Amino acid sequence: MGAEARFFKPSKPDIPATRAVGPTELFDFMTRSSLSRRVDNAMSAARFLRRATLTRHTPLLAQVVVTRRCNLACGYCNEYDDFSPPVATDQLLRQVDALAALNTAAVTLTGGEPLLHPQLAEVVRAIRRRKMIATMITNGFRLNQERIEALNDAGLQEMQISIDNLEPDEVSMKSLNSVDKKLALLAEHARFKVNINSVLGVSEERTEDALAVADTAAGYGFYHSVGVLHDHNGLLKPLNDRQLAVYRRVTRVSKSLTHRLNYRLYQRNLIFGRSNDWQCRAGARYLYICEEGRVHWCSQRRGYPNIPVTEYTPADLNREYKTRKECSPTCTLACVHQMSMFDRWRGPQLLPDPGARP
Ligand code: SF4
Ligand code: SF4
Repeated sequence: MGAEARFFKPSKPDIPATRAVGPTELFDFMTRSSLSRRVDNAMSAARFLRRATLTRHTPLLAQVVVTRRCNLACGYCNEYDDFSPPVATDQLLRQVDALAALNTAAVTLTGGEPLLHPQLAEVVRAIRRRKMIATMITNGFRLNQERIEALNDAGLQEMQISIDNLEPDEVSMKSLNSVDKKLALLAEHARFKVNINSVLGVSEERTEDALAVADTAAGYGFYHSVGVLHDHNGLLKPLNDRQLAVYRRVTRVSKSLTHRLNYRLYQRNLIFGRSNDWQCRAGARYLYICEEGRVHWCSQRRGYPNIPVTEYTPADLNREYKTRKECSPTCTLACVHQMSMFDRWRGPQLLPDPGARP
């Protein structure tokens, strides 16, 4: 049986239609089932939009590493190890307070694998208490009903699950076959939104798997997004003809406005091997907080500005907003593209990239 036929699940009436979105899909918050959640999400979206449009230097999204450790070992990944302990919860709570003091709109918990952190729900609860949007990225392997309920109760708003293929291989272990039962659990119990994200370009032979993943996500009522693979410097790896054909079909399945906008503004150029002319606002609109609690531009440009988030100031945000990033033309990091979108036509970057070669 073909992979598509085997994994496609049509919408079932007994599965709640949790029309889920990715962590950057911040404007679809009004689709929750209960009134209080809808009001809560509408207020979150309004706060986000206010910060995005009326301010320039306030962070829109901070990605916080809660542990560097991962339970998988994907061949293309440079963001994990197999031994680090979870970041101490009180340290994470101080980081949440520091992000709230900087007026941050949204926080995404990431890793490594964030579900390896035993007090993850407590951190989510702290983020929501400080009126920030709470999302997370996971490979989904450690999900069970108890964890889903704990994340519901803590107020998690979005979960992104990464799935690259149907069966695990040496390049990516994030396979649909491994987490299909977890997706069913999410469809039944999650009160937050779920987005399934696939990366194209991981493996030539498994290119068509992304179609089956997208169909399965749609069958559960989840959203689906697709990204293009970056190399170990966060840079472009153009798609070949076969991957391009799949990319076009998968993006047609996606209902997400943000993903379509992202495709038009950034990804369309990248997948054809062309560069983008944009101003990366990493360090200002987007913050990457490593397991030591230090702010970096992103997962691929660690080392700048390398300041503890608890000591990060509006002056740091202002400086990084105005600092050019020489890696921007071929950068594939969609979440940073999206957080930089609002300042596309304002705030020129006149400060040089401190890491640029002379
Ligand atoms: S699951 Fe994610 S963090 Fe873990 S090794 Fe794979 S890509 Fe890296
Ligand atoms: S352009 Fe920005 S997000 Fe992309 S790799 Fe460079 S610093 Fe990171």
